Amino acid sequence: MLPFKLVYSDKYFLPIGQHVFRADKFRLIRERLLATKVADDSDFLSPEPAAESDVLLVHSPHYVNKLMEGALSAREELQMEIPYSPQVVDAFMLHTGGSILAAERALQDGICVNIGGGFHHAFPDHGEGFCMIHDFAVAIRAMQKRGRIRRAMTVDCDVHQGNGTAAIFANSARLANVLPSTSAPALAAPAEPAGARTSGNEVFTISLHQEHNYPFVKPASSIDVNLPDGCGDEEYLAWLDNAISSGLRQFDPEMICYVAGADPFQHDQLGGLNLTIAGLKRRDELVFRAARSRGIPVMTTYAGGYAINVEDTVSIHCNTVIAAAETCRTTPEGTGGEKLTA
Ligand SMILES: [Zn+2]
Repeated sequence: MLPFKLVYSDKYFLPIGQHVFRADKFRLIRERLLATKVADDSDFLSPEPAAESDVLLVHSPHYVNKLMEGALSAREELQMEIPYSPQVVDAFMLHTGGSILAAERALQDGICVNIGGGFHHAFPDHGEGFCMIHDFAVAIRAMQKRGRIRRAMTVDCDVHQGNGTAAIFANSARLANVLPSTSAPALAAPAEPAGARTSGNEVFTISLHQEHNYPFVKPASSIDVNLPDGCGDEEYLAWLDNAISSGLRQFDPEMICYVAGADPFQHDQLGGLNLTIAGLKRRDELVFRAARSRGIPVMTTYAGGYAINVEDTVSIHCNTVIAAAETCRTTPEGTGGEKLTA
């Protein structure tokens, strides 16, 4: 039995036909976790669909209406890059409910992994890049609305920049800090504006991504790390370490949303980085250790993963659960923030 919960539903499957996005990966991940005895049935929680009122905390009423009525234009559907159907909307609502549940459980248990979600290319008024509803932005806003947290940090390690996340939280991510895509030096701590660590309903956004890849217009995150093509494990991990350390010097989150994309993998069809499966697991460990040692709850979503061999995508995503479990065993709980009970 795991020291935290996994959120999953068979209805996470997206009926989008033959697609580079293998919508059966969620089921395959669950099956692998069970077959390898990393998890058992009791570790899984089943989500409810998100309430429309929660989705409206992020998305415009006009856009939500179009989704519910099936009134997207041909251009809007093209931009989404997945076919529209009411069943696809239902699946996205369920992934979003899953991320809300994962946020609640992370705040309770220290860690929770949604075996889905991570739709970071959805904007308030449109979807794009396989993303219809921004599940974890909705989860953050729902936790803020319910008074569970004020400040959250997103750590997006998908190979593609989190453009929707950056756009949604642009007004609250007050510290813009674009890192150059050169070799990885130690980052100096940027000047810290008075009150930055204590004020308001803020969300600090970090994105590590391949610079020369979709999205070609990248709205500014709080910290963007534009990685060069072919970036390998060591360079990537050095940049990630720097970005998280820098972010946590500037900002004091009550929850981290970790976007554990599998597409920085060297054999990904849509990515141009060169990370190994072992390197990606070290990435996960780095994020979980950084959070746990400071006592910051982490909710995780999965986002992309388009390896030539789907079994590699499944391995990378399963390793995220293993990394979280190992971190619980090996890393002492921090004393700041909400206590980790896992
Ligand atoms: Zn991606």
